[in-house]
Amino acid sequence: NLQDTTTLHNGVKMPWFGLGVYKVQEGEEALQSVKAAIKAGYRSIDTAALYQNEESVGQAIRESGVPREELFITTKVWNTDQRNDSVLEAFEISLKKLGLDYVDLYLVHWPVKEKYKQTWKVLEKLYKEGRIRAIGVSNFKIHQLEDLMSVAEVKPMVNQVELHPLLAQPELRNYCKKQGIQIEAWAPLGQGRMLEHPVINEIASKYNTSTAQVILRWDLQNEIVTIPKSVKESRIIENADIFDFALSAEDIEKINALNENKRFGADPDNFTF
Ligand code: NAD
Repeated sequence: NLQDTTTLHNGVKMPWFGLGVYKVQEGEEALQSVKAAIKAGYRSIDTAALYQNEESVGQAIRESGVPREELFITTKVWNTDQRNDSVLEAFEISLKKLGLDYVDLYLVHWPVKEKYKQTWKVLEKLYKEGRIRAIGVSNFKIHQLEDLMSVAEVKPMVNQVELHPLLAQPELRNYCKKQGIQIEAWAPLGQGRMLEHPVINEIASKYNTSTAQVILRWDLQNEIVTIPKSVKESRIIENADIFDFALSAEDIEKINALNENKRFGADPDNFTF
């Protein structure tokens, strides 16, 4: 069900399914969508300092009535804070905005060249102090993971990357699986661009589900943590309603075959924000 978890390599349990809040407005929009999600049974929320909605996410958590320890909250350190060596300060600010005394998962948002190893050392320290339950990275390719792990004392527990049927990331998924790093999909719906895909539409009509539900079910059956975004309560509920059907192996293969290594977002090798 919605509260099923994967166990990270340090033993921490992370829900397979959660709500993403990129481009969700601080204030009513973020407050209402996070509350709607928690009410619908979501237990995992993915935000970031960049999204500028941590205060509303925190407020929604407090108003949800669900005990803090039953929720799994992810936030991320933004690139400029890596460049200015202000990772520790950025963490304190995120925590303060969220109104929490720990986060469940803290991610290095992008592999900023010449910086991410130092950033990782700060995350390791916070992890060892018990202020973060799990630490991970985002937008890391295999070469960046290998470079990071050459100096890491704590192996990343999660790698959150752009992943959807047109960018299925088979090599990276394989590599992470071997390393015990949980893969997590951002833009699982291709930021909405995957929802008109004829092959997936056809599969959806066969199961009497929506196209979004087929894609999110494909994530789960591939052991990919997924965090679709929506601010509409009906879609928040719809996206999570994927635990009472299963795609056949043949349909999974059909979706696997759609991979074109096509990114909608930036390439981590030349992202300079
Ligand atoms: P997404 O693939 O989740 O698509 C979201 C969009 O799809 C919505 O804005 C909505 O227009 C549409 N949608 C959602 N559910 C629908 C439904 N049932 N029917 C029809 N349309 C629907 O894109 P995303 O928000 O970019 O990615 C998900 C989350 O991943 C983000 O909110 C954020 O938390 C995270 N993310 C992380 C990074 C990173 O660099 N680490 C980058 C982008 C996003």
